[in-house]
Amino acid sequence: MAETYDLLITNGTCVLPWGQEQTNVGVRNGKIVALGAQGSAAEVIDARGLHVLPGLIDPHVHLRDPGDATVESIPTGTKGALLGGLACVFDMPNTTPSLIDEKMLTWKQDYVEKVAWCDMGLYVGAARSNIPALGGLECGCGVCGIKVFAGSSTGDLMIEDDESLEKVMRSGRRRISYHSEDEYRLQARKGMFKEGDPYSNHMMWRDEEAAFLGTRRLMALARKTGRPAHILHVSTAQEFDYLKDYRDLVTAEVLVNHLTQFAPDVYERLGGFAVMNPPIRGKEHMEAAWRAVNDGLVDTIGSDHAPHSREAKMRPWPTCASGLTGVQTLVPIMLNHVNNGRLSLSRMVDLMCGGPARVYGAIGKGRLAAGYDADFTLVDMKRQRRIEESWIVSPCGWTPFAGMDITGWPVGVIIRGKRVMADDAVIGEPSGKLVKFR
Ligand SMILES: [Zn+2]
Repeated sequence: MAETYDLLITNGTCVLPWGQEQTNVGVRNGKIVALGAQGSAAEVIDARGLHVLPGLIDPHVHLRDPGDATVESIPTGTKGALLGGLACVFDMPNTTPSLIDEKMLTWKQDYVEKVAWCDMGLYVGAARSNIPALGGLECGCGVCGIKVFAGSSTGDLMIEDDESLEKVMRSGRRRISYHSEDEYRLQARKGMFKEGDPYSNHMMWRDEEAAFLGTRRLMALARKTGRPAHILHVSTAQEFDYLKDYRDLVTAEVLVNHLTQFAPDVYERLGGFAVMNPPIRGKEHMEAAWRAVNDGLVDTIGSDHAPHSREAKMRPWPTCASGLTGVQTLVPIMLNHVNNGRLSLSRMVDLMCGGPARVYGAIGKGRLAAGYDADFTLVDMKRQRRIEESWIVSPCGWTPFAGMDITGWPVGVIIRGKRVMADDAVIGEPSGKLVKFR
């Protein structure tokens, strides 16, 4: 019997959880209803020659909203996400003001569903003032989890001492995401350097031991409390090695920058536009990150999209702002790594879709399978293109990957059965929704 669908995606090579298959995908009411679908549909997308991936997720962005819209905002950041081939982003809480209470959360939940172009999850920040409330806040609609800045970063959220960190771990149950750098070590080492030193001193100040010590302290507390942890942007060979003994409690993120850029090259080329936390380090750490990806130790890949004005990035070190843009370039760069043989397309999809869905407990996201949201990223694995700053829609207007030649490009995004990006243009009106979490 011929079925009727709202949407049929035909002839594409679908990246399914169990392998790749050239097949048709049938969609009804915003959900995938059949693979190998035959029948008629209100809309047909011919994906011949393309790969059909489940909608990709960037679980680590800072869209700065509320904050400074001349640098970034949710409308511009989510538009960049779509143009870069993402269907969903999880947004960090260190905005101005920070998202640390019910009032801001309610405002943002409402605001996102009015202005976001892609689906979103929201982190709630842990601050000294809200520790007893975290168990309630983490269950809010659209909340992907609690974020703890255990080492200094942009914004006023920081909890650096063991006693307070333990209290955070004992308030609530879901997996907590950590920025792991030891604040005491960072403060102690700051005096060793002076203004105007080379930008590469960023990785001397925030050295391997600062990250490794932070992670050791967090793992000891996670073991003591039994609270699951997600270590964001793991950046050292030492941490990768160490985390193997904590897989019962810990999941790990790697940033695309730490898989793509390395010192001293990146600092010589980009100066302040290479400065981020934790820093980009030597090539041995980049290779350790790839080994960890290929060993299955890494669960998610993020961009840590953290825009600043050009002016703030051009100040002398260490007064230049830390953080790099990346939401729009994440997918192209990862596709390029696939084409260079660094990882398989299936592994990339696991890291950029299934992984985030598992780690954060997203419902209806993470696989191309019946019953899941009809979110798709269509990619042309053969398309060649150079990353140009003129393509970047973030108002700050720059990317640390300008000039990079890419093979493999996202050419379409479909969210809950609706085509929202095709060939370098967003379509219709913003229709992003909050993701549901377990
Ligand atoms: Zn971040």
